[in-house]
Amino acid sequence: MALYDRFSRLAAERARFQDSGPSPFGTCIEDIYSATEGRIGGKNVILAGTNNYLGLTFDPNAIVAAQRALAIEGTGTTGSRMANGSYGGHMALEAELAEFLDRPSVMVFSTGYVANLGVIGSLAGPREVVLLDADCHASIYDACVLGGAEVIRFQHNDAKDLERRMLRLGERAKDALIIVEGIYSMLGDTAPLKEIAEIKRRLGGYLIVDEAHSFGVMGANGRGLVEALGVEDDVDIILGTFSKSLAAIGGFAAGKTREMEVLRYASRPYIFTASPSPSIIASVRSALKTVASRPELRERLWSNARRLYDGLANLGYALGPDVSPVVPVMVGTKEQGLQFWRALIDLGVYVNLVLPPATPAGITLVRCSVSAAHTPKQIDQIIQAFSVLRTSAILDKEQPE
Ligand code: PMP
Repeated sequence: MALYDRFSRLAAERARFQDSGPSPFGTCIEDIYSATEGRIGGKNVILAGTNNYLGLTFDPNAIVAAQRALAIEGTGTTGSRMANGSYGGHMALEAELAEFLDRPSVMVFSTGYVANLGVIGSLAGPREVVLLDADCHASIYDACVLGGAEVIRFQHNDAKDLERRMLRLGERAKDALIIVEGIYSMLGDTAPLKEIAEIKRRLGGYLIVDEAHSFGVMGANGRGLVEALGVEDDVDIILGTFSKSLAAIGGFAAGKTREMEVLRYASRPYIFTASPSPSIIASVRSALKTVASRPELRERLWSNARRLYDGLANLGYALGPDVSPVVPVMVGTKEQGLQFWRALIDLGVYVNLVLPPATPAGITLVRCSVSAAHTPKQIDQIIQAFSVLRTSAILDKEQPE
């Protein structure tokens, strides 16, 4: 067998989408003009396919802080924190995140993906059981494979199903890891954390919540879904990323107790990779200050999310269940999805095309994501583009439910 033959089915599938138009897989954004504007395929577009929820990628304070760190501390750390040492900025960011989240221990990782591998992969060893929401992100699944734990999936957002499976585990439930997310990245819905926390209090287990899409976005202070639902005390570890509301790259884990610190010596994805560059750390520290001091950004984000959700719902599109900064629109088959996605670019709007198996239940989605930096006018332009396509030949008359 030739080296890449094992991917021949995938290659054939992808080739079907690689004709003359722009490709939805690895789209080239030729120019970036601002948090919400860019150029794709020679066309100026509104960017509505990012995770730039608070619109901070061009925040002047973050840029100045990053430039300063670059000039003073250089371009990279060139090594891991364990082998080569931490810079002051890494330690300061951990302390600032710990204060922001009111938790005694925070570890910074090089990406959110690595944070999940590093924490879950270390705790979910071969003798452990992990109870996982079926729609959890690939990094969480990969972390369970890395750790070698027994994985039991429960139905997405179904606390009763979780409870049934925990009861079936008997005594083993007491040591199981329960892993869910804050906002789910495909459908934009949120975990029923109150019910899950209650089950955990009754049956045991340890609760880990990945707030990748909800940190900075939910809660009165931006501490995520755990804050919004008042269950912070029930959550053993909060996981997060710097690549969305904090507008850079990196990840973190925040422990309920200082005992989590032992992972610095046990977690291979923490130990065996280079630490984030000083400029990244500096821009994240600046963005975190902005998250804490400018709650109006969250208000703007949610007001934009409602405007887009209501606008698309009024056009008769089938959307996700909740108003959310992630607004998925169901568009039928993969082929319809591709045509629809390209037509949106022609109309000046960039979103994400997401195909099965990355989507739940085999549906094809064009996924819009909203930013606090979108103006109401831009949101209306996005709705207008969807309005033009609502009656186009691309879609079936009836929208799939
Ligand atoms: N967790 C979830 C729920 C995610 O959606 C993502 C990325 N989309 C990650 C983790 C990984 O984050 P990062 O991009 O920082 O690696």
